[in-house]
Amino acid sequence: MAQGIPNEVLMNATLIKDLEDVAKDAALLRGVLMRSQETPNSSELVTYAPFTLFPTPVPKAVFLQALAVQTPYNTLVDKISQDPDFLQEALASTIAVDDFTARLFRIHQQILKEGRSQSVVLGLNRSDYMLDQREDGSSSLKQIEINTFAASFGGLSSRMPDVHRAVVMFLVEESQRNIFDQRYIENELWKRNIPTIRKRFDNVCKTGSLDQEKRLFVDGQEVAVVYFRNGYMPQNYISEKTWDARLLMERSLAVKCPDISTHLAGTKKVQQMLARPGVLEKFFPNQPQVVEQIRATFAGLYTLDMGPEGDKTVIMALATPDRFVLKPQREGGGNNIYGSEICQVLEGVKDSTERMAYILMDKIHPTPFQNYLLRRHAPLKISNCLSELGVFGAYVRQGKDMVMNECVGHLLRTKSSEHSDGGVAAGVAVLDNPLLV
Ligand code: ADP
Ligand code: MG
Repeated sequence: MAQGIPNEVLMNATLIKDLEDVAKDAALLRGVLMRSQETPNSSELVTYAPFTLFPTPVPKAVFLQALAVQTPYNTLVDKISQDPDFLQEALASTIAVDDFTARLFRIHQQILKEGRSQSVVLGLNRSDYMLDQREDGSSSLKQIEINTFAASFGGLSSRMPDVHRAVVMFLVEESQRNIFDQRYIENELWKRNIPTIRKRFDNVCKTGSLDQEKRLFVDGQEVAVVYFRNGYMPQNYISEKTWDARLLMERSLAVKCPDISTHLAGTKKVQQMLARPGVLEKFFPNQPQVVEQIRATFAGLYTLDMGPEGDKTVIMALATPDRFVLKPQREGGGNNIYGSEICQVLEGVKDSTERMAYILMDKIHPTPFQNYLLRRHAPLKISNCLSELGVFGAYVRQGKDMVMNECVGHLLRTKSSEHSDGGVAAGVAVLDNPLLV
């Protein structure tokens, strides 16, 4: 294995067993925790969040490239969120067939019509990449997707002077297995004397209200910032009341992270539109070097809209399905379609507008590395692993001024190569660290 963990180490069973025990205890001691699947809403039983035994080699140059392109990506997401014409055009075909995106878009339109109550925008993104291995041995960084919703927080809270007058509300899921990831952020805020509260959609439905100035109140407390950790999947909206609650928060004076237009800017359809010739140039008119920096991380992305271009995509995908991933407009893992299943799905939808609910993407081929994945109830065995690098970005815009725009950290997730899809929460990938080589 090139520049990775030496084989003598990987194959030394006694050493691996010792390391396994030490590593699990270290994870518990350092607070790398998750609640158990059985009792996701209680801390009586917690366990380590799944992780790799060894760090995974990542070429230093590519790692630095991913960090460097993060602030341009923040700018891009923010510009898209402020460009209603672009969003409308980019999402038109998706809205026609995808009810979830259509509903989000309706909220976006209503907010535009009413005028935004809050000129401060807080963006927290995570752009995910895999290393595409070329035949000549070189590898290049290709974006999997950008997450504008439910990424991490970073140390930007001190930039929000308004916050001291009210609380930061974490809008959390019903099942709170990943609470420790959020508790870190809550603790950071508390350390800065910023109170946080944890509320569910249900709380907002029952007690949420706006006053005359559109200040948001939930359970009697004024909310300065809504940090959404829930609401990116259709199943999060269990009733019309939940949709009303989302609209209420969007209409309010509270700073939303993300706001509805930034949420829409993170859709896979927008990602595909950005890959079209001339689109990045529109957002960075006089900055060819920024356009180049961003474009270098794009994999091939293809439309499935009705018309000759989409027809070409269908033919290409049916001819060589193994070269591609078929993606619906969904988040959260486990939705993508691979291999022969692409043909099954496309055969069913290729002649109808239903196909517009998907985009097609080149499959990225990272070099597998051997590692051990530590996960509760799973016997330890060596696996061929693929890794995905995520880079966190944070920005604050007030009106037209970018007050801050920073790259605020990274995340490496690793999974066994037998799985095509999946994240940590989905139970497929585990936490890892880049070993820069
Ligand atoms: P989600 O919103 O569900 O996280 P992603 O686009 O991130 O959707 O895809 C989920 C997973 O599928 C990724 O974490 C990655 O493992 C795999 N995947 C997605 N796109 C590609 C691709 N183009 N090539 C290889 N693997 C991919
Ligand atoms: Mg993803």
